[in-house]
Amino acid sequence: MEAVTRFAPSPTGYIHIGNVRSAIYPYLIARQTGGKFILRIEDTDRERYVEGATELIEDTLKWLGLEWDEGPVVGGDNGPYFQSERLEIYHEWARKLLAAGRAYSDDTPPEKIDEYRKQCSTLKKPFLYRNYRPAELDFEFKEGVPIRFKAEPKEYDWTDAVMGPMHAGPETQDDIILIKKDGYPTYNFAHIVDDALMGVTHVMRGVEYLSSTPNYLALYEAFGLDVPVLVSLPHILAPTGNKKLGKRDGAKSVTEYREDGVLPEAMLNYLACLGWNDGTEQEIYTKEELVGRFSLDRIQTSGARYDETKLYWMNGQWIRRIFDTEGARALYDRSIDFWPDTAGTYPEKYRLQVLSIIYDRLKTLNDLKEMTGYFFADPMIDIDMLKNNKFLKKLSEAELEDLLKKSIFRLSEIDDWNEDNLQEALNGLLVETGKKPAELFSLIRIAVSFAPFSPALNLTLNVLGKEVSLARLNEVARSI
Ligand code: GLU
Repeated sequence: MEAVTRFAPSPTGYIHIGNVRSAIYPYLIARQTGGKFILRIEDTDRERYVEGATELIEDTLKWLGLEWDEGPVVGGDNGPYFQSERLEIYHEWARKLLAAGRAYSDDTPPEKIDEYRKQCSTLKKPFLYRNYRPAELDFEFKEGVPIRFKAEPKEYDWTDAVMGPMHAGPETQDDIILIKKDGYPTYNFAHIVDDALMGVTHVMRGVEYLSSTPNYLALYEAFGLDVPVLVSLPHILAPTGNKKLGKRDGAKSVTEYREDGVLPEAMLNYLACLGWNDGTEQEIYTKEELVGRFSLDRIQTSGARYDETKLYWMNGQWIRRIFDTEGARALYDRSIDFWPDTAGTYPEKYRLQVLSIIYDRLKTLNDLKEMTGYFFADPMIDIDMLKNNKFLKKLSEAELEDLLKKSIFRLSEIDDWNEDNLQEALNGLLVETGKKPAELFSLIRIAVSFAPFSPALNLTLNVLGKEVSLARLNEVARSI
């Protein structure tokens, strides 16, 4: 079956991790079945609307490689794809229900409705508007007057592709609002109409919509529509406790992760596996592999815990993978925006060399800023850092100075400054001084970088070059 799926975000400006996962799964199902993936912008809540939010959504999907077959920008036969441009369609569908006596215009003032709600709460009864619906119903369409569904509550049995067989009693159905006072439809109504008109076969969304599903089933029935495959995606849970991941739980927005130098492949991989697995131990998947392996029946029913450390680990894996499979240049091209400010004055070839020795230590591309500063500017000499190093603590100043001098002498003897010759000289120094690698190499490494980490010493010195390396060592020898 060629699945038609959709991602239907509301343009509220902030792209939550969970929103993106709700785009990935429908995309995978559409591609797997040779179907269609639709992008629909649900902009009917004018109060929450944020300027520029649609562009942010489009940009994020493009960045992740989730190209859509119908929707804004690309168009399609079932547009418009902004709900705010479909008001006539919703009104027409509401009129059908009015004509059939399954919806009514209702101008009961909100204060009155609040009163009913309060009565219920005093009596500790659930509030159902249908118990208060006016005795005389108005089946005329009226501008500026909300339209409500006229529920005919009953038992429903259905199957959710993730949650399994479901049952709901009449208490779950009410006279829900279809069209608001401002003429805009509610989500509850608009998505039923749009999914039907757009031929959506699989409705995939957060599990928070599960409790409203009986109302949706009643609407499908009232319109004589086939019910699409309903897929409730489990919550993404905060790193600790048992609550949904929220803005305050330390999870950044997708935009922030992107700015941090998380690669789209890693983001896609991580989110696809947050609440789904293919039953094997595999953790790293390309988009194509995900398209091949994804299946609804392996989406987990319980909440999936968000783990940022794992996301960064996966990103590190992807950085390595791109370097190893596509080459240094491919990774370099993606790293352009992430270098320290001073790097811009150095030739590209040099930056490529730096990347080639450091890439396997990066968790994000942004780490380049912190980890490569000394390649692009002389580090601040911090003699205390050197003296307090755990391997150097026991050495006296005189010893440190002597070791530096010997190192400078031997390194300056190298004619052809390359990795192998450097390694040979460093080994020779070990023999000459009788020091352990941890001591001697820490000393040289710190003296040229004053950084907490660096790649292997011979590689670091090779990239820095003879002149810079010796100048830095001399400067430190003089400062001790
Ligand atoms: N606009 C809804 C949201 O952003 C979409 C839910 C759905 O996919 O139907 O939560």
